[in-house]
Amino acid sequence: MKVTVDESAGFCWGVIRTIDIAETELKSSGNGKSLYVLGDIIHNPMEIERLKKEGLQTITHHQLQNLHGEKVLVRAHGEPPSTFETAKQLGINIVDATCPVVRKVQERIRKFYDSGYQVVIYGKIDHAEVIGLVGQTNGEAIVIKSLEEIEKVDLNKKTVLFSQTTMDKQTFYRLKEEFQKKIKELIVDSFEQQAMEFHAKDTICGQVFGRDKKLQEFAKKNDIMIFVAGKSSSNGKVLYNICKNANARTYFVENEHQLLPDWFDGVESIGISGATSTPQWVMQQVKLEIENRFSEVEVKETTF
Ligand code: SF4
Repeated sequence: MKVTVDESAGFCWGVIRTIDIAETELKSSGNGKSLYVLGDIIHNPMEIERLKKEGLQTITHHQLQNLHGEKVLVRAHGEPPSTFETAKQLGINIVDATCPVVRKVQERIRKFYDSGYQVVIYGKIDHAEVIGLVGQTNGEAIVIKSLEEIEKVDLNKKTVLFSQTTMDKQTFYRLKEEFQKKIKELIVDSFEQQAMEFHAKDTICGQVFGRDKKLQEFAKKNDIMIFVAGKSSSNGKVLYNICKNANARTYFVENEHQLLPDWFDGVESIGISGATSTPQWVMQQVKLEIENRFSEVEVKETTF
């Protein structure tokens, strides 16, 4: 038997960058001053706990109102302009760790909104990134997450269609086809038009989409898959479903304590993968737990 951790799993560069910024700030403010972050820095409870021990305090938007002159980190998902305005009024020093990919989408949305387009975003209305994107349009952008919600859109207006960066491509392209049939003046914005290093025909992040194929191949190679992610990770849900479609014996866990012995009966190969918000060290802990609880398992080392 062998246990293998997926080499391509783990933090995307946007998350690595955000955590680097947080850790640099925490080190430089070692004089007892706190660093706050608006919302969970990442959808992973174990990484949140690790950073909490280093001094990072998670706050809500409501709690932001009670701070004065403190340092507050904006996480990779970004924030609407109203948050920056509030911080300015309260004398709060914002450390902006918005992922550059998300920032680019924010800028594009604002540009189209200012040019009089109806902005439609394929995404989840209560997701932090989407709240930041809708904020670029004074709350006017229409958010849809399925074909059934198309009726929310005024089909007679000139329209631009965007996607939240972590959504599923298949649904996005079905929506696009439907809109192309129904809306005369439609733009589907993409990273390609934005001349970034991504050459996608949409605004779904290559860090998420690029993993589909590798994950499918990896999942098929193993008898069972342990998929590790935080329950609230949007990207985790997308990748878990891809994994599950490729290998029906895929199990979702947040950490090593959720592993169940029945899963490993008669199994010869075990693959471990995770979301873009899953730290490598958490996947390594899952591997170690399997190693300890199933002593007959021969653990295959991986290099990172
Ligand atoms: S998945 Fe993409 S958009 Fe999201 S934080 Fe990572 S790099 Fe940025």
